[in-house]
Amino acid sequence: MRGRFTRHGLRRIAGRRIGKLAICGLSLAGLAVATLAGGALSAQDLRFFRIGTGSTAGVNFSIGGLISSVVSNPPGSRPCERGGSCGIPGLIAVAQATQGSADNAREVGLGRLDSAIIQADVAAQAYGGKGAFAGANRQAELRALTSLYPETLQIVVRRDAKVKTLAGLKGKRVSIDTAGSGTQALARNVLARAGLRPADFKPSMVDLGTGVDMMRNGQLDALFYVGGVPAPAIAQLADMVPIDLLPLPPAALAAFRKEEPAYLAMTVLAGSYAGVTTDIASMGIYSLWVTNSKLSDDMAYALLKALWHKSAQPMLANGHPAGRQMALASALNGLTIPLHAGAARFYTDMKLLKTATPTAKP
Ligand code: GLU
Repeated sequence: MRGRFTRHGLRRIAGRRIGKLAICGLSLAGLAVATLAGGALSAQDLRFFRIGTGSTAGVNFSIGGLISSVVSNPPGSRPCERGGSCGIPGLIAVAQATQGSADNAREVGLGRLDSAIIQADVAAQAYGGKGAFAGANRQAELRALTSLYPETLQIVVRRDAKVKTLAGLKGKRVSIDTAGSGTQALARNVLARAGLRPADFKPSMVDLGTGVDMMRNGQLDALFYVGGVPAPAIAQLADMVPIDLLPLPPAALAAFRKEEPAYLAMTVLAGSYAGVTTDIASMGIYSLWVTNSKLSDDMAYALLKALWHKSAQPMLANGHPAGRQMALASALNGLTIPLHAGAARFYTDMKLLKTATPTAKP
């Protein structure tokens, strides 16, 4: 949604079409009133920029909201130098709930979504035209703005299901998340490597929030989630029902890294969730904020300047544990697709890159 909004368009969004959009730190109703009433505040000067995330229960919906907050600066905001938003004048960014990485990659690649948070493994597949993105489904226009934070594979089991290993999921009721999520893509791969075909267990394809509800109600034995630790939805579950996290065997991690070197060894630390009393070996992958190559270079540059402005750091860090892991210094970690040209220019100016040529492997 890259166009500017008319007064009518803004009112329509404010009134009816908002759906699952989070505009952090902004009151949409107040904004609409301020914008529509004041002659000096022209709705023509507003630009709306969407960030696709994942399901509302996931960490990325919160992270997308935080990013929206720091890059937005609609008319009437408190000035940056007085402790207000240091975002892009006239910009209203919104975090939008989606199915997750795979859907996001397609929507951004096709230019139907301005930007999104996606797993770097899914980005590599989409940009490289592999797996579900083969042939005409290749998303060659996908570009990275920045790396955000490492997401962790979390395989949550109810303790009373008495499952200790991946192979133990045989015959169990397991949520692999929704089709279109990056979680499902990785879950299928992990299960296949453990020798489990979908016929070997009872799969559910539900989002994190639904999966947690089903775990709590005894309708599921296990669920997969690829995302930040601690994930509040899993923390709530652990507070109500005894859970364990399944470890990933080191050999499986080695095999995954051979396939995609961007996979990382990750550890879910003891105490991350109630009842998880030992460190759990797992794997992870950076989440990337991606856009389409057709986004203007100036806009890509301005988004990053706002995101990595020093005033944004405390907001990110205080907003969510995953936000504490986000920093300009790690903005180029784990990239699997080329940088947007405007992003490359920004990182060159920040002296993180030597030339403004996008350097990530194509
Ligand atoms: N990485 C997950 C996915 O693409 C989403 C994680 C989240 O929603 O926090 O499916």
